[in-house]
Formats: sequence, C-alpha cells, structure tokens
Amino acid sequence: MKQMNEEILRKIPAINSLLNEEEIKKLIEVYPKKLVLYFLREEIDRIREEMIAGKRDGIDKKEILENVKKKTLPSLKRVINGVGIILHTGLGRAPYCKNIKESLSELLEGFCNLEINEENGRRGSRMRHIEKLLIALTGAEAGLVCNNNAAATYLILKALAEGKEVIISRGELIEIGGSFRLPDVMRAAGVILREVGTTNRTHLRDYEEAINENTALILKVHKSNYQIVGFTKEVPIEELAKLGEKYKIPVVDDLGSGAFIDFSQYGLPKEPVVKESIEKGASLVCFSGDKLLGGPQAGIIVGKKEYIKKLASHPIMRILRIDKTRLAILENTLRLFFDEERLLKEHEVIKMILKKEEEIKKMAKKVYNALKDKKEKYQLGIISGESEIGGGSLPGVKLKTYLLKIKDKNVETLARRLREGKIPIYGRIEKDSLLLDFRTIREEEIKLLIKGLKEVLN
Ligand SMILES: *Cc1c(COP(=O)(O)O)cnc(C)c1O
Repeated sequence: MKQMNEEILRKIPAINSLLNEEEIKKLIEVYPKKLVLYFLREEIDRIREEMIAGKRDGIDKKEILENVKKKTLPSLKRVINGVGIILHTGLGRAPYCKNIKESLSELLEGFCNLEINEENGRRGSRMRHIEKLLIALTGAEAGLVCNNNAAATYLILKALAEGKEVIISRGELIEIGGSFRLPDVMRAAGVILREVGTTNRTHLRDYEEAINENTALILKVHKSNYQIVGFTKEVPIEELAKLGEKYKIPVVDDLGSGAFIDFSQYGLPKEPVVKESIEKGASLVCFSGDKLLGGPQAGIIVGKKEYIKKLASHPIMRILRIDKTRLAILENTLRLFFDEERLLKEHEVIKMILKKEEEIKKMAKKVYNALKDKKEKYQLGIISGESEIGGGSLPGVKLKTYLLKIKDKNVETLARRLREGKIPIYGRIEKDSLLLDFRTIREEEIKLLIKGLKEVLN
C-alpha cells in the first residue's frame, strides 16, 4: 500500500513545473502569485486524495490548469441574461440604471460624507442622502432604508410590536424564495401572530374582531408570487387604514416590489404604487430596492414620522444598515424618477418591461444572422414566447417576446458551457433546445453575445 502511494505521488507534477506553464504564467501577470499558488496547491491536493482513494489513476495536466484558471478569475462577474426573467435573484435581480456608473466613479475613490452634518461638522445621519427624495416621490412624511425588504419587515415588527400581537390575513401569510416565510420572520421578531379570515376571504370585521389591548400592528402583505382566484375577498389598504386610525394601531403595507410608476398606464395590470398606498392612509409602506425600483439590494420604509423615528432609533437598525455604495446607487436611482424622459431611457427594468416586440425580434434576428454558419448544425430558429417580470412583481404577467432557439442533443452540456464561457450566457432549456430570450438581453450586449456564442457553438 505504502509503495503504491509513493508511486502515485511521483506521478503528480511538481508545483514548480506547473508554474512554468504558459497558462499559469499568464495568470500570474494579472493576478497575485500567492492566489494562483493557493489554487494550484488546492487542485493538486484534491487530485492526490482522489488518487489515493482509488477514484482516479491518471493525471490530466490540462484539467489542473483549467481549474486553476477558473478559480483565479474574479468570481462575481457580469453575465448575459437570456433567461427571460427580468428580476432574477440568481442573476442579481434588477440591473442598475444607466446613470449609475458615471455617478459612482468619483465616490469610489477616497472618502465621502456618509454620516457627516456638513453645517456643524458633527456626526449626521446617512439617511439624509435619500430621505428627501423618498418623501418627494411618495408623499410620505419620512423614510429610511435598510438591508433588504426582509430586514425592513423584521425591523418594523421588532420595533413596533415585539411581545405583542400582529394581525394578518390568512390569505397573506406568504413564503417567498430564499426561505423567507412570514410566520418565521414574525417568530424571529418576537411578535405574536394573530391570523384572521380564511385563505380565500378576509373581511374588515375579521380584523376588527381580533383587535384587543395587546394588538400592536395590522400588517397587509402584497401577494407577490401567487394569486388567489375565484371566490375571494381581501380588505383594501384604505379600509384597514381607517380601522387602524379608529383604534390607534399602525397599519403597515408590505408592497414587496414597490412600484414608483403606475404600470397600468402602459396597458399592464395594476401593481400597487407606493405613493397611492401612502395616500390611502398606510402608516408605513415597505418594499425592496432591487425589484421594480431598479436599484440596489435594499429595504425601503416610508410613512409617518413617529413610526420612522422609532425604527431609526431601534438598536436593530444598526445591524441592518446599508453601506455608502448602495446608498449612492439608491440616491441616483431615485433621482431618475424625477425626469420621466430619462427614466424611460435609462431605467433598465422599466425599459425591459416596456420593450416592444418588434425591437426584441430585431435583436434576435441580428444574432441569428450573425450565426448563419451554425444554422444547420444547431437548427437555429427564432420563435415567439413569453417573458416574466419575476421578483414577485406584477405576478402572473406574461410579456410577449422572441427567442433564439438552439437545438443540441446534449443541451445540458451546451447550457453549462455557455454559463462557464468567457462571456457567461444564461438561457432557458426547453426539451432539447436552449432558448435565449431577447427581452432581457440588452442592446449593448448584442456584440458580446454573438462573440460568446461563436466561441461555444463550434
Ligand atoms: C420580495 C418580497 C420581500 C423580500 O424582499 P427582499 O428585498 O428580497 O428581502 C418581502 N415581502 C414581499 C411581499 C416581497 O415581494
């Protein structure tokens, strides 16, 4: 046994010889040598263990070099989203607006005035960079931002209702992706869940009957990733707001996707608009920064000053706060909403939602034409289909689109090679074809996409 191990170990190339390989030399020119060495050792250790365990006998130097390269290149990278889901959490949710890069470049160098009161030079609040904008856009008295909307919900429950009862309709006890289940969040925040109504129907009297001296909050949650159809009833926010006023209980509207514009003006179904919820009397409204708003990951809360104050001064807020980069991206995203013309040109999410079918078809054709020589081998074709908005925004809405169809017997392998390519490309698999949806592919990415496809489709 010992002898066999020694024999195996002798087969493994020495680190020094690998360092002389052209691929490794190239990596070291760009990335720290220590990092390359770390991954080289990791690869060799792995192979040695596999050999000793009898899981392999030969050594493939090419495999080592390829793996080291894969590990050394930056891990978080831009990808082309041909999946056809605009707000795809796996692909980073909302793509940033066009104006962000330029407005951030200066901030990324050196220090900034994150928490300074410029008038007196003392410590200030980081919220002031965005609060005025939120107030102007939503009509609320005050606003703040924290890590994400899950955090916003938690903060609200913890700061306003810990140890007390929170009333919520049985039809709104949601679970959204990534293990966010409302009852669990409530438990974690230490509030007592008081479910009312039934799955399909909840009446105002159900809420009213549940109110007692221990009630701290009424919570309404937007059904973002499901629909209840048929014999249904939910209580609109304006009625809940009136009820809350009568009993002096805050009413919170968790809108999830948080639309700042009314999408029904473009022929889409109505998604609740933050401003309207405030107008209808919600004490607080919370929503994500990286869904329909098209900003960074964030949880935004707007509403009555007395409650925002309580949230801002709660110790949990310190744990949930966001950093300067995200604040800057949020500030610049919010600013776009004051200029409708620019908004429609620079807001990537809104642009993708409103993208015209002809435009999508044109893009698909461009790529199809550029790949003419692959037409037969991959039975390329342009087909019509549907895209989704995703992220629990405008649930159930299907947007007409065009897709490039790439047929391959080993479609799973093709999809993986495209994901792992120099220009990572993501599509969706349907039977034996990979589909690339041109609603979520940006005009600026067409050239890259063609290049990436040419490299992999050979
Ligand atoms: C998406 C969503 C959340 C969670 O928001 P994150 O920003 O992902 O934490 C909470 N509530 C509703 C209704 C949502 O749609």
